[in-house]
Amino acid sequence: MSHEWITVLGATGSIGVSTLDVLARHVDRYSVFALTGHSRMAVLEAQCQQHRPVFAVVADAAQAAELQPRLAAAGVPTRVLHGSEALADVAADQRVQVVMAAIVGAAGLAPTLAAVRAGKRVLLANKEALVMSGALFMQAVSQSGAQLLPIDSEHNAIFQCMPQNYGAGLGKVGVRRILLTASGGPFRDYALEDLAGVTPAQACAHPNWSMGQKISVDSASMMNKGLELIEACWLFDARPEQVEVVVHPQSVVHSLVDYVDGSVLAQLGNPDMRTPIAHALAWPERIDSGVSALDLLRTARLDFQAPDPLRFPCLSLARQAFDAGGTACAILNAANEVAVQAFLGGRIGFTDIPVIIEHTLNCLPPERVEELPQVMLADQQAREQAETWLVKRV
Ligand code: NAD
Ligand code: MG
Repeated sequence: MSHEWITVLGATGSIGVSTLDVLARHVDRYSVFALTGHSRMAVLEAQCQQHRPVFAVVADAAQAAELQPRLAAAGVPTRVLHGSEALADVAADQRVQVVMAAIVGAAGLAPTLAAVRAGKRVLLANKEALVMSGALFMQAVSQSGAQLLPIDSEHNAIFQCMPQNYGAGLGKVGVRRILLTASGGPFRDYALEDLAGVTPAQACAHPNWSMGQKISVDSASMMNKGLELIEACWLFDARPEQVEVVVHPQSVVHSLVDYVDGSVLAQLGNPDMRTPIAHALAWPERIDSGVSALDLLRTARLDFQAPDPLRFPCLSLARQAFDAGGTACAILNAANEVAVQAFLGGRIGFTDIPVIIEHTLNCLPPERVEELPQVMLADQQAREQAETWLVKRV
């Protein structure tokens, strides 16, 4: 068994905390090289005390000036760095073998790409990074020889159900379709007319998963499934029509792969992100994740339904953006990030989210992408456009 050094980008978030929970069960196997966090400094401090990383990376100099002496006083040898360059540095450092990419949103793109370009084993939770820069991201993976392992529970499930050589193309390896499951979120059964009045607290109360605020709102609007559809197309080199979204309220079947001979392989488990995290950490081996065994008799039922396009317009917006190509997915993602923040801040209603995204996509025609600055520019322009909508409401 090899010993590996890991950097956890976004250590203080939901995925970061679950990652450290798994790592703590396997201290003989993994050492923590760096932990990063943008807020919740008390959590980061406690994590540094427990895992004693070489580096911690925070947002700015003020946070660093507060954290560094506290760690020193506690006898923790961790050096505190700050800023976006430091994020990329700890992701690409030559002493690191594994990088958990668990920053939320576009902010994670640069450090995740730095890890990819440095040829690391990259555990990808930060789906927004891949959605924004799809073709460039996958090109960087193949050029550097990085190994990309999906953490998103659905994509991790698909990865587990795929044949080893799926990179040859789905048709060549006998895969007919990918069945991407979705819980349907907290508003699956709400009357359409009640959706306009739902609160951020209701949107964040996911029935099966406990997650960060942004992905919780995305799950409620099903933009999460839209982003995941795009993610699946890039990760598994699939066409969007080869990916079918199936609503499965129990979140026990994490996704399925349908083969041409009629076999359908599924991965099941309790809804706990430590399972995909442990899978990707140890792959191709298996390690304990702390997740209890699935009790099928208690689960009793597995239900499946088609998604309702009227209730969840974000799903078709994502399909349209992927079909449009170029910068469209970066625009979709940026407009969604602005809209979700505005909803969480009480500035707009829940049903304004798809309106803002559609408006932004209509205002900014997609452009071809050859280099990363084009993606960053589209991201910036989409944020400005979406902000304009927030101010003018048209
Ligand atoms: P979270 O909000 O709980 O945590 C986000 C982390 O990113 C925190 O450590 C935060 O400090 C850091 N961060 C936020 N803004 C930053 C910035 N501008 N610069 C640097 N760091 C920043 O989010 P989460 O739920 O853990 O999700 C993380 C990623 O994993 C997201 O992309 C999400 O879509 C994906 N994901 C999460 C889950 C889940 O169960 N939580 C499941 C699948 C995929
Ligand atoms: Mg998911």
